[in-house]
Amino acid sequence: MLIKQLLHSEPSDQEVVAQGWVRTRRDAKDFSFIELNDGSCLKSLQILASRNLADFDETVLKLSTGCAVRVTGKLTASPAAGQAVELTAGKLEVLGWADPDTYPLQKKRHSFEFLREIAHLRPRTNSLGAMLRVRSSLAMAVHRFFQEEGFFQVHTPVITTSDCEGAGEMFTVTTLSGTQLAHGNEPFAGDFFGRRAGLTVSGQLEAEALALALGRVYTFGPTFRAENSNTSRHLAEFWMIEPEMAFCDLAEDAALAEKFLRYLIRHTLDHCTDDLELFGKFIDQGLPERLAIVAGQEFARITYTEAVQILSEAKVKFTFPVAWGIDLQSEHERFLAEEVFKRPLIVTDYPASLKPFYMRENDDGRTVAAMDILLPGIGEIIGGSQREERYEILERRMLAAGLDLDTYRWYLDLRRYGSVPHAGFGLGFERLVQFVTGMANIRETIPFPRTPGHAEF
Ligand code: ATP
Ligand code: MN
Repeated sequence: MLIKQLLHSEPSDQEVVAQGWVRTRRDAKDFSFIELNDGSCLKSLQILASRNLADFDETVLKLSTGCAVRVTGKLTASPAAGQAVELTAGKLEVLGWADPDTYPLQKKRHSFEFLREIAHLRPRTNSLGAMLRVRSSLAMAVHRFFQEEGFFQVHTPVITTSDCEGAGEMFTVTTLSGTQLAHGNEPFAGDFFGRRAGLTVSGQLEAEALALALGRVYTFGPTFRAENSNTSRHLAEFWMIEPEMAFCDLAEDAALAEKFLRYLIRHTLDHCTDDLELFGKFIDQGLPERLAIVAGQEFARITYTEAVQILSEAKVKFTFPVAWGIDLQSEHERFLAEEVFKRPLIVTDYPASLKPFYMRENDDGRTVAAMDILLPGIGEIIGGSQREERYEILERRMLAAGLDLDTYRWYLDLRRYGSVPHAGFGLGFERLVQFVTGMANIRETIPFPRTPGHAEF
């Protein structure tokens, strides 16, 4: 049985089996106490191993952190605080030893930097294990939310030939050798796809085609950006959730995004109590309050122009000076969410020059129907927009952006045939996990992070 189930069982005369990895061993006169964890939950099961067990000296007394064991025994009421039951061992088998002289995970706390170097073992620590359980729970909640709201999950290509928005640098996908790439004018003409292909930076353009058939769709897939930005909020490979809705404007888009975020936070508060408690205690003491704010309070809404106004009147010296037309930097986003509004914030209607070609032009001619959602603690977590559904305007903006219209003929077609107002957004899944766990660095929110210079494991 899983330790999670055993911990919630009543003491009984029936034999049960627990399997897991030893966290610690403590020896008393007649017994050894073993903390056994199988990953099913944060808590470990206490094993009571009597000196009378067969092979006690060769097995129990040699157990160290990381050893894998199978214990058969009976659940008994535990006199110790913090646990209702413990397992009195009748039989203990060692499945796999872990040499204490070389096993890198010792009982003390290790730095996250060190743990990244042993990403194959760090899931066995309390904090990474808790993160992975929360991550799984959030992924389920994402699907639940969209199914409840009438969305269909769709799968968009991972290999693409359109760098959707210049969202970031695209990784090239090729079968050519280095020498073939170095010579010739159009090396990709002889490549596998006959032209330059890359890993997707967003599934949005394809999702639009599907929304204009199924009404409400969402993608939840891997996304790649070769941005050489060594920040605590960027990965080269991450997972993005992108809903797209037909017959939808920016206000409805923002309302759905707010409902979605609050649903996800509520879900983890309800389902991941133990794991969240760990993060609140050891990772980030402000976490419980921040989660409660997102779950409980309505998000504030301001336009970009109002945001710039507030920032330029603020008595704070920013590294990046503020003026209408600049892209809001992380320091500005966090100042707005943390100091001014003290709750999540939706900023809308950004200058067109800052945003990709597909965002719907506003009547003022200089802003677009975009929205970013900023959270206290991490800044931008969602970026979305109403899409330009008018053929002429879209074509004009594509040309202005220097796009090759032939590549995007199919995308323009969506505006030639049965075009309707539509909108959507992108939520970076790891940013969400980062917000919910309070992890300072996004590299602690995915099991095997890919960042510049790092693709081990
Ligand atoms: P940022 O300004 O933070 O780089 P962005 O404007 O490039 O974000 P979008 O292109 O709007 O982001 O992507 C939508 C969402 O995807 C973002 O709100 C964020 O949550 C997430 N995201 C973007 N880039 C990354 C990345 N490199 N690693 C992890 N998540 C990311
Ligand atoms: Mn970016």
